[in-house]
Amino acid sequence: MTNILVTGGAGYIGSHACKALKAAGYTPVTFDNLVTGWQDAVRFGPFEQGDLLDLARLEEVFARWQPAAVMHFAALSQVGESMQQPGTYWRNNVQGSLNLIEAAAASGCRQFVFSSTCATYGDQDNVVLDENSEQHPINAYGASKRAIEDILRDFDAAHGLNHVIFRYFNVAGADPDGEVGEFHRPETHLVPLLLDAIDGKRDALTIFGTDYDTPDGTCIRDYVHVCDLVDAHVLGLKWLESGKGSRVFNLGTGTGFSVREVMDHSRTVTNRPVPFNEGDRRPGDCTRLVSGSTRAEAELGWKPTRSTMETMIADAWRWHQNGHYDK
Ligand code: UDP
Repeated sequence: MTNILVTGGAGYIGSHACKALKAAGYTPVTFDNLVTGWQDAVRFGPFEQGDLLDLARLEEVFARWQPAAVMHFAALSQVGESMQQPGTYWRNNVQGSLNLIEAAAASGCRQFVFSSTCATYGDQDNVVLDENSEQHPINAYGASKRAIEDILRDFDAAHGLNHVIFRYFNVAGADPDGEVGEFHRPETHLVPLLLDAIDGKRDALTIFGTDYDTPDGTCIRDYVHVCDLVDAHVLGLKWLESGKGSRVFNLGTGTGFSVREVMDHSRTVTNRPVPFNEGDRRPGDCTRLVSGSTRAEAELGWKPTRSTMETMIADAWRWHQNGHYDK
């Protein structure tokens, strides 16, 4: 079977990607430092514990598994934290990715799937973003991801490192089989936090800002189901395997939901009230981030099937009630 090195395979999106890769006949080899990931989430292939800042360890792992491709999920990914600790974000995300890219190129691995972000676009009000939209990130997280995109382009030009870049919008939901799900400690993301509030695991959800220039004053995001998202990654891998070269794809649904709308849908799906209060804006947040996925649908044949808000919240709620990791 073909080995795929999955960095961040013990994390939320990476663990779902490992499940999808295994189902597609690949062997996902997880590389993760377990700082934000969970060993319990590594269920679909071998595990190599290590840190992207440790180049020697990466070289050892490439030599051992000879992966045909890399799927690179491992990153620090909190917008707010990136504004407080930019150095940590640049070092971990950019230096770590540079090590990974150099180790891949040196080992002869020429296929690379990278998880980038809509945060590379920055605030472009009332625009439905596409892959040609300008990138003006307004937080260190987005800036670090854009820098990695540039590194990939340079390595492609110099060393033929073919890559697919996915710029995700907001990811939600969980594996409907309940094998893996979203589990961050501490949690910072909207959907799991509001499910915690519904469930009484925290007092209330704080809405970060109610004075944005949107119909209800709260930020608007485009949410995509994690299972649809990782399906796109498998299609991206097949794109690279068929020699089509490097390409950027946005992964969103084209529909934006405000924070209040996500709360309303959660109330409907769970049939319980959402305790909340209204707080200040979170530094680094864009007003509105929405994308179509025309290119991914046309060129990769991607068809999201679970990315309605109801299904994302229902899957997240099922996981929230039954699933967790201990280590
Ligand atoms: N948000 C919020 N309260 C929270 C967490 C998030 O109001 O406790 C808002 C946040 O300001 C953003 C949206 O929910 O508009 C999604 O935030 P999240 O952190 O889930 O993802 P991000 O957009 O930062 O990738």
